[in-house]
Amino acid sequence: MGERVLIALGGNAMTAPDGSAAPADQLRAVELAMGHVAALIQAGHEVVLTHGNGPQVGNILLKNQLTAHVVPPVPLDWCGAQTQATIGTMIMNSLDPIRTAVVVTRTLVDPADPAFADPVKPIGQYFSEEEARRFEQLGQSWRKFDRGWRRVVASPRPIEILDAGTAITLMEAGYTIVAAGGGGVPVARGADGRLGGVEAVIDKDHAAAVLAGAVGAGVLVIATDVPNAILGYGTPDARPIGAVTPAKLREYQAAGHFASGSMGPKVEAALRFVEDGGQRAVITSLDHISDALSGNIGTTVTES
Ligand code: ADP
Ligand code: MG
Repeated sequence: MGERVLIALGGNAMTAPDGSAAPADQLRAVELAMGHVAALIQAGHEVVLTHGNGPQVGNILLKNQLTAHVVPPVPLDWCGAQTQATIGTMIMNSLDPIRTAVVVTRTLVDPADPAFADPVKPIGQYFSEEEARRFEQLGQSWRKFDRGWRRVVASPRPIEILDAGTAITLMEAGYTIVAAGGGGVPVARGADGRLGGVEAVIDKDHAAAVLAGAVGAGVLVIATDVPNAILGYGTPDARPIGAVTPAKLREYQAAGHFASGSMGPKVEAALRFVEDGGQRAVITSLDHISDALSGNIGTTVTES
């Protein structure tokens, strides 16, 4: 019996193992990932895909910065929309002849989200202090990291996937769906009630949990580069988490087992999905996603 499943693809599904994102690397990674996804679709599951876009947005930002004297730089939300289209196109070609629809997806955020007052999400390449100061003059926030200066932007909580209805309509017409790529294009309502893009990035794992709920997925699969979430990660006592209840996983989370920029959002997304009524969330590696649906693999969050 097929299930409706939301699969969130991490960076390793779209870039080379060393993180390089030249077109050939991206094409190769997507092809490999779609082999696993196609197996699920052929087994009768109804699949909705979402994906990250960090390296792709980083490349577009770099081009913006290098050519700013010739072509006016475009806003961050436009960069995100561009990556939904290009990554979506690669996915459609890879899944052919499976009928696939890529939905340009906006994600609503709250302009009063505290993240806007304290932008912490680093994006794009490292620059020198001199260059960083120049971009600060243009109104951007930059911070010094160990390897140099990097732009930081707000990463507000996704409130609603505005185009989830379009995704559902196409899904019910028989399409495999790609939606909310890069967490969705961030938009907010202005004082006049109209929607506009905002300079922010939305965590793709958090957006995946909201999208999974909105499309009525029974299972949320977060596909990354490790087979499990791990307790005591990087210590001699490291121990993989298998089946776990949300209550127990909240305890592990509170004890600080999951790094904030990587495993943290995946664990939070899995918890949020199951606590909001989803049946099951699985965190595992990309090559295990078929087995993830039959159970007994990865970190599986369920009430029972
Ligand atoms: P993705 O591109 O799939 O979002 P991330 O790099 O953001 O991947 O997150 C996966 C990484 O999280 C793993 O490769 C690992 O290095 C790191 N990580 C941090 N804490 C943990 C943990 N407790 N268990 C497993 N992996 C962890
Ligand atoms: Mg990540």
